[in-house]
Amino acid sequence: MAKLTGIGIYKLLPKTNCGECKFPTCMAFAMQVAAKKVALEACPYVSEDAKQELAESAAPPMRTVTIGAGPGAVQMGGETVLFRHEEKFHRPTALAIRISDSGDVAAEINAVQALKFIRSGKEVRVELIALEQTGDGKSFVAAAKLIGERAGLPAVLMSADASALAEALTVLAERKPLVYAADKGNHQALAQLCAKHKVPLAVKGETLEELADLTTKIKQAGVEDLVLAPVVKNAGEGLTCLTQLRRLALEKNFRPLGYPAMVVTAEGDPVQESLQAIVHACKYASLLVMRGKEPWQVLPVLTARFNIYTDPQVPNAVEAKLYKVREPGPDAPVLVTTNFALTYFMVEGEVDNSKVPAYITAVETNGLGVLNSYADDKLTGETIAKAVKASGVMTQVRHKKVVIPGLVAVLKGELEDELGCEVVVGPEDAAGIPNFLKTVWKP
Ligand code: SF4
Repeated sequence: MAKLTGIGIYKLLPKTNCGECKFPTCMAFAMQVAAKKVALEACPYVSEDAKQELAESAAPPMRTVTIGAGPGAVQMGGETVLFRHEEKFHRPTALAIRISDSGDVAAEINAVQALKFIRSGKEVRVELIALEQTGDGKSFVAAAKLIGERAGLPAVLMSADASALAEALTVLAERKPLVYAADKGNHQALAQLCAKHKVPLAVKGETLEELADLTTKIKQAGVEDLVLAPVVKNAGEGLTCLTQLRRLALEKNFRPLGYPAMVVTAEGDPVQESLQAIVHACKYASLLVMRGKEPWQVLPVLTARFNIYTDPQVPNAVEAKLYKVREPGPDAPVLVTTNFALTYFMVEGEVDNSKVPAYITAVETNGLGVLNSYADDKLTGETIAKAVKASGVMTQVRHKKVVIPGLVAVLKGELEDELGCEVVVGPEDAAGIPNFLKTVWKP
């Protein structure tokens, strides 16, 4: 956020020191406003111009833009840092899949809506559907109507035809789609249209200067919710451009480019397209529009996004407790791991792959993996024994065996003393679990 200093605020006050704000001087009042301890409105003499200037300088460096309405609406932008470790990224890159108005639109909508996957126990999915005009205006409007009726996803309307967009908005405006895209030739018509329907507008430009010029004009025409859509030919060019945009917005507080950015993938090869999308999910697209809709093309992008947009200030952990995979019986193995989410879900996934029902005790390690928690004394014979006893799992099985990760084989003796059970050393890597359970494990 732009720094709002006491001196900066003071310059905009009347400087009469009348005291009506309950502060002895305008300067004292300005310092309190800067510290956010009192509202500017407490001074009855602040001019409207000054209020506007102060509101603008207090606005975040990147606007937050919402596409869609209701619970499925997607927010983008509002980022405050260049690098995740400085604080966190606030809004994950939204992913839209592009469909054509001249194909089987209903089938394409179903295909896009089916793009949901589970990663580390959480659902990751495509959030938007982008409708591209390839036929005449009629088919575009009919397809927009179908999206309004059938798709639960917010939409991006992609067309260069202002009259087709105007008609499509008559059936879809309430769902607040993103209109793509205003350029040098059509920005006045599209700005008017988006201002009328109160929908966000993407702004397309060949250069940063062109983008800044267009956003300034469109804002003056009454559209505040803008998304920058630089024209990029490949991943490298896009990376350079998006990095410049993010730096200008956050470091230079350059208002005409203080908007979230989007990329419509340009790579023709399906693998290259996914790679381009991953590059831009890393830096710095708030919205990606992809053509590829095969699960193998989409899943890597969603996975990369899932990894990047975790909050570095919050441990990536699952609840430390006893988990059941399939329906374990009295001879089922009892495996131990940490409550680091990635470790836990890898173990759970491999146990499930083995088709051997099992218990997994996730030990509280504050979200640290096996070796880190061992090095930090969070995964010890004592903590494992405590977790296994607290889970009550040993009363649910007939055997007296616990399987520990091979990486902490050194804990075997200590744990046997603490737990009074046989400790079996499992594989070092989760990938070895299926073979271990099928060929080594004996109750
Ligand atoms: Fe200054 Fe306004 Fe306070 Fe009067 S009310 S002292 S003009 S800030």
